[in-house]
Amino acid sequence: MKGFVIEKFGLENLTFRDVEESGEGIRLKITMAAINPLDFNLVNGKVVYGVAPMPHIAGSEVIGEVMDDGVSVRKGQRVIVYNRIFDSTCGMCISGNEHLCVHGGIWGVGTNGGFQEYVRVPEKNLIRIPDHVTDVQAVSIPIAALTAYHAIKRSNAHVGEKILFYGAAGNTGVLGMQIANIMGLDVYGVSNNEMAKGYGAVKIFRRDEIPEDFTSDIIINPMGSEVFQDSLNHLSRGGRLVTFGILTGRNSEIDIANIYTSEKSIIGSTGGTRQELEELLEIMRNHQIRVPVDSTFRFEELVTALKRHADKHSGRIIVKY
Ligand SMILES: [Zn+2]
Repeated sequence: MKGFVIEKFGLENLTFRDVEESGEGIRLKITMAAINPLDFNLVNGKVVYGVAPMPHIAGSEVIGEVMDDGVSVRKGQRVIVYNRIFDSTCGMCISGNEHLCVHGGIWGVGTNGGFQEYVRVPEKNLIRIPDHVTDVQAVSIPIAALTAYHAIKRSNAHVGEKILFYGAAGNTGVLGMQIANIMGLDVYGVSNNEMAKGYGAVKIFRRDEIPEDFTSDIIINPMGSEVFQDSLNHLSRGGRLVTFGILTGRNSEIDIANIYTSEKSIIGSTGGTRQELEELLEIMRNHQIRVPVDSTFRFEELVTALKRHADKHSGRIIVKY
């Protein structure tokens, strides 16, 4: 079988070749992948997590078809790969926070991932895709939708509160705005991309056109340093800023007095739990969640798909196996 192997970092070094089967657990035929910043940065040697093994096969946002009967999955079923490695035994796992497992990591980063035709995955990482969820919706859950949903939950959002998404046209923005809307929040977005409109926001501001006096109870900011202080400035008294990304850089100078005098909170968020992934599938049972698709590539065209990620694109970049 074939896979895309990182012999050394850099997209130009990604090699399409025969690979040995890897992983442990249920054999999965990968059917679809979605391209995200994690995969892109990993291939280019820029992830903040430890990569193993080397040479490496990336691909952390995938769905597949089960090849063997397991205890809770059957041959032929469609499944999402919950992409966290976890031991089920540490305090974090026992409290339901397997994404924070002290012996854990990210599947596809700390292990080989789904940029190969078949891979073995622990059964506890496989979540059945209900019939009401399409392949494109399903493949957008493990990173894009789950990251956005977990971030909203981390903010302890209440019905009727105002929430503002930076990077509103991005993967987490488009999905997060729809989910927040379903959860009864008053949704706003920040983006210079017109496509951010129509996903549940009352208003999309251009980056340089957020009214100075505009404030929000919750701000979701995956953009990193460039707009970090800006997003703190637009936070209401007692407001919560949730961060889970560093797309424009990882260091930022912040006005500390501005945080304590208004009792603002800065909250870290990463990935999400299996329970939340199940909750998302349930939300999709009762509500239409739209996943915009920028482009679809064949598996053999993965390098082109990753290149497309670096271009200005609108919606998910999908790879069909
Ligand atoms: Zn654990």
